[in-house]
Amino acid sequence: MTSQSANVVVIGGGVNGASTAMHLARMGAGRVLLVEKGHLAGGASGRSGAMVREHYLHPTLVRMAQEASAIFHNWQDAVGGDARFTQTGRLLLWGQNDADAVRANVAMNRSLGVEIELLTPSDIAEILPILNTEGVAVGAYEPNSGYADPMATTYAYAQAAQDRGAEILTGCAVTGIRTAGGKVVGVDTDDGPIEADAVVAATGPWVNRLAAPLGETLPVTPIRVQMVHLRRPPSLESLDTAVIDNTTGAYFRTNAGFKTLVGGEAPGDLEEVVNPDAFGLNADHDTITRYWDRARFRFPGFAAATQMGGYGSLYDMTPDGNPVLDKSAAVEGLYWAAGFSGHGFKLSPVTGRMVAELVMHGECKDHPVGDFRAGRFAEGDLLTGDHPYEGRAHQ
Ligand SMILES: Cc1cc2nc3c(=O)[nH]c(=O)nc-3n(C[C@H](O)[C@H](O)[C@H](O)COP(=O)(O)OP(=O)(O)OC[C@H]3O[C@@H](n4cnc5c(N)ncnc54)[C@H](O)[C@@H]3O)c2cc1C
Repeated sequence: MTSQSANVVVIGGGVNGASTAMHLARMGAGRVLLVEKGHLAGGASGRSGAMVREHYLHPTLVRMAQEASAIFHNWQDAVGGDARFTQTGRLLLWGQNDADAVRANVAMNRSLGVEIELLTPSDIAEILPILNTEGVAVGAYEPNSGYADPMATTYAYAQAAQDRGAEILTGCAVTGIRTAGGKVVGVDTDDGPIEADAVVAATGPWVNRLAAPLGETLPVTPIRVQMVHLRRPPSLESLDTAVIDNTTGAYFRTNAGFKTLVGGEAPGDLEEVVNPDAFGLNADHDTITRYWDRARFRFPGFAAATQMGGYGSLYDMTPDGNPVLDKSAAVEGLYWAAGFSGHGFKLSPVTGRMVAELVMHGECKDHPVGDFRAGRFAEGDLLTGDHPYEGRAHQ
């Protein structure tokens, strides 16, 4: 075993754990140890759509996403290494039912400095004639959006953490949180105990495996989601703009040259509660067909695509679709960073800093980390926008 004591143990080697470890190391937290039961980016992070955007429905999230987007655009200086961020622009489509909310949200985003513009269906038809605008009442375009490589991103955080002296232990599962007198004193692992003054659990859908034995169950539900690969035919080869079709719940982003990744976030796409240690890693045949149908409805050219299978992964959903970034209510020195609900990739440069500041200073200097407190669910004070879109599990 590499290390038997640390000032801070971060559990979970996804983007959020790795970013937190990097920020802790950079802030001088002492000996920082990142412990991962499998390999880095082996959870949701490695299978992420990894899209980066700024448009959100709540000002706190808009400001966090703006800061994070600036980091993806300037990765080499801000983090180091290469997250392989590709700027593609992002087109959002909504039906009439969401039109008023879209106008209000786009105005709020613009007032905070987000570059986003409203589009009519005829604007969209002009910009992207390969798109069928049926059912679209309003659109919006974010030119600065794009996607990164989620595995490269995770490893870049990890390397930056190691460059500041952090250690990384993979293939080592934390089996429990060690406490004494209501305070954290370390963790138990399948490789022996590790003493620590503070522990951060960035363990995604597995968070309650560690929280529940302490009497503190978080409202985080593991939901299986699926992604489908389509090889674009020549008529769609130029389609590299990310498209979020809120009328059907489909989203599209280019992948590996001429392939498109198609994901789904209609309510029915986010209902499969699973055991995070035993879920279908391949896409189901009926889901591939359903997502392909949505793709060819919006882009008729997809009828000539080659369907190339797909994969399953996990969202760690909370009731308001936003994470818990908080100290444990049960144990002093223990912190939660979980429940990212399918949108925690783009936020990771900032959420990692917020959690590191929470550990080091008990608060975050420039974002209201209290908005993400675990207690908001019991208080009925959910983190939601004033103008939610219909039928979206996260906004
Ligand atoms: C298909 C899909 C598409 C997505 N698209 C986007 C997108 O376009 N944009 C966006 O912003 N977000 C997106 N997301 C969401 C985003 O990928 C996740 O929110 C983010 O990756 C979560 O990172 P994490 O570090 O919190 O958790 P994870 O990546 O799940 O990492 C948790 C880690 O903890 C480890 N672990 C758990 N328990 C223990 C233990 N006891 N001991 C040691 N290690 C442990 C696990 O092995 C795992 O590696 C998508 C997610 C999916 C699944």
